[in-house]
Amino acid sequence: MSRLMKNEGCPKSNYMNMDINIYKGQIWKKSSSKVYSPELLGLLESKDALVILKNGEPPFHVVIGVPHQAAVGVTTIAENWTNPRGRKGRDSDENAASFALAVFSELCDQKIPCKLVIAAHSTDHDPNKDANSPYCKEVFSEKTHFLLECHGAGEQRKQDIEISAGTNSLGNALDFGRQLATKLNYQYSLSAQIEAGSNKAKSISKDKEIDTTLVLPALETTSLIQAEKREIAALHLEAKPRFRISENDDSISADGLILGNAIAEVILLKGNL
Ligand SMILES: [Zn+2]
Repeated sequence: MSRLMKNEGCPKSNYMNMDINIYKGQIWKKSSSKVYSPELLGLLESKDALVILKNGEPPFHVVIGVPHQAAVGVTTIAENWTNPRGRKGRDSDENAASFALAVFSELCDQKIPCKLVIAAHSTDHDPNKDANSPYCKEVFSEKTHFLLECHGAGEQRKQDIEISAGTNSLGNALDFGRQLATKLNYQYSLSAQIEAGSNKAKSISKDKEIDTTLVLPALETTSLIQAEKREIAALHLEAKPRFRISENDDSISADGLILGNAIAEVILLKGNL
């Protein structure tokens, strides 16, 4: 009898099964040092965990999404998933949650209603490429005006920061990029998409803007497309390892903290979006 009850031959039964954690604890162990609280660090380094942090009630001013979070040193996620082109797994965005947490933490200090959704190391799907994933469902479960997705780029990427709206015509990547570059005092190289649906971009520096192309314009990203259907402006931001990998695995990097605070300032500038 028991053998018949077994759920053998049904490999998809746990497909996209993420453990949902609504985290209400402290973000930083000590706010001055920006070291993660051990409980939060444990979640950020776990697998198949959706980590949700909320401040205030919807409608949220912004939902910040981190679909490809993984522990530092873990370079591949979705290892049990094969993409439509037949490739197994995908690159992770090691510790991309770090600068997203800095944004969230700063917005909390400013009493801005906002939500942070982190997909920590999904093993069997790509969280922002499937509208039915737990990540996408959570991102769109409550009303918001703006979705900002935080990603990682590799060390070889030509620009430190790349911003795109994908095909989302409500997200103005160039405007956001110009304001972010100003807030960062032009100390990093930054490129931003000129118009939705295109890979054409401007490389923004203090004295000039130069035509360039985006390495990853995110034109096929489901979450950005789904956002537009819900009249939500959305942007995709990629940041190189210097913004994500700290000397100590349990804290945010100095550049990540600068980037997170600057992003928060731009979000605050944009008022009610
Ligand atoms: Zn990513």
